[in-house]
Amino acid sequence: MSDEITGKSPEAGAVAPQAAASAEASATPARGPRPAGSGGPRPAAGPGGRGKFFRRKKVCKFCTEKIDAIPYRDVRLLQGFVAERGKIVPRRLTGVCTTHQRRLTRAIKQARNIALLPFATRH
Ligand SMILES: [Zn+2]
Repeated sequence: MSDEITGKSPEAGAVAPQAAASAEASATPARGPRPAGSGGPRPAAGPGGRGKFFRRKKVCKFCTEKIDAIPYRDVRLLQGFVAERGKIVPRRLTGVCTTHQRRLTRAIKQARNIALLPFATRH
């Protein structure tokens, strides 16, 4: 007990002057000659690699609009869920729920069969 007290008091006394000394040291012009340009603009793309895709709302569009049967003739609607090359966009990117994603897939395939949508665009 007594050791703690005796050990503490000199430390507490020493903290303030040390901090003051370090503050003085940092304030010295020794830092001046260093180029300050290191803090430039960083590339926004992180290690995630998701930057290519649109970030949509993560809510099922068909649930919110209460669309039960997905109209396969509605090309505009379907094209929102088809990538440029004709692929169906995965659910985790569109936010469509499982049920509607299945219906959507069927609708897209139907639409493909009647040539409303491409199977795959040529690259
Ligand atoms: Zn849904």
